[in-house]
Amino acid sequence: MTAKIIDGKLMAAQVKQEIKKTVAGLNQKPGLAVILVGEDPASKTYVGGKEKDSLEVGFYSQIKRLPATASSAEVIGLVEAYNKDPKIHGVLVQLPLPETMDEDDILNRIDPAKDVDGFTYINAGKLFSGNPGHVACTPAGCLEMLKRSGIDIKGKNAVVIGRSNIVGKPMAMLLLKEHATVTICHSRTKDLASVARQADILVAAIGKPKFVTADMVKDGAVVIDVGINRVDGKLIGDVDFDSVKEKASYITPVPGGVGLMTRAMLMQNTFNAYKTLNNL
Ligand code: NDP
Repeated sequence: MTAKIIDGKLMAAQVKQEIKKTVAGLNQKPGLAVILVGEDPASKTYVGGKEKDSLEVGFYSQIKRLPATASSAEVIGLVEAYNKDPKIHGVLVQLPLPETMDEDDILNRIDPAKDVDGFTYINAGKLFSGNPGHVACTPAGCLEMLKRSGIDIKGKNAVVIGRSNIVGKPMAMLLLKEHATVTICHSRTKDLASVARQADILVAAIGKPKFVTADMVKDGAVVIDVGINRVDGKLIGDVDFDSVKEKASYITPVPGGVGLMTRAMLMQNTFNAYKTLNNL
């Protein structure tokens, strides 16, 4: 079997087009504020992408760049100002923050209604308890890709490799909410390959290039590759795409997969925040 490629570029363009259409008819633009601290090259690229997407869909975009020497108090001051700013509906602090800063403390200063990254304890707790709130963009993007591909999740065995707070855990919660039977694997999982082979839906969020090989994949499984690894200047996923695509029924490529949907979901979350804050 050769897998169908889930085209993240196309799907992200569709999501953004849907948002753009609706935003065009609004009196007030939804506003997204992004705070970037320091000079991390990958972070700068990500923030540039967020600004580009915001403008593309017709949002009001505010990017605040602070030097790595900025204090936590300065960052918190900005977050609190954006929390109160009626032009801003989404507030995002780009990670990683400098090591001297308490990431959890700063993130949790964001008003949960404007927490479009879904990283506050309030929004993580809402997801855990099955209540509506902002869901982290990467797992939200993965779910959107499954749904837009017409993949049935209910009753399926889903295996998520990775248990981070920003990808693995929220991904597992979303799949559970969709009535999958979910297993979470991590670095201490015994015989991970045999667990992975049980998966109808396999999500790889590990951070190790080509970690998931064909022998770890059941025939006909749906494989979602979250990994972004820079190897010799190239982006490589956590899945060995060339071999796994011969066994899977659906697969996401890297690049051109989950990364682009993650960006689109940030636009979606900001638009959702705008609607909620305006009682729409
Ligand atoms: P983390 O480093 O926070 O988590 C990685 C997880 O993988 C951990 O739970 C870890 O287990 C597990 N893991 C590591 N090694 C192994 C192993 N040998 N066997 C089994 N499990 C293992 O990473 P993130 O969740 O933040 O990101 C994962 C990947 O996704 C990265 O490549 C990252 O760049 C990418 N990413 C992509 C995004 C996108 O938009 N496409 C967005 C965010 C991330 P343990 O907990 O036991 O240490």
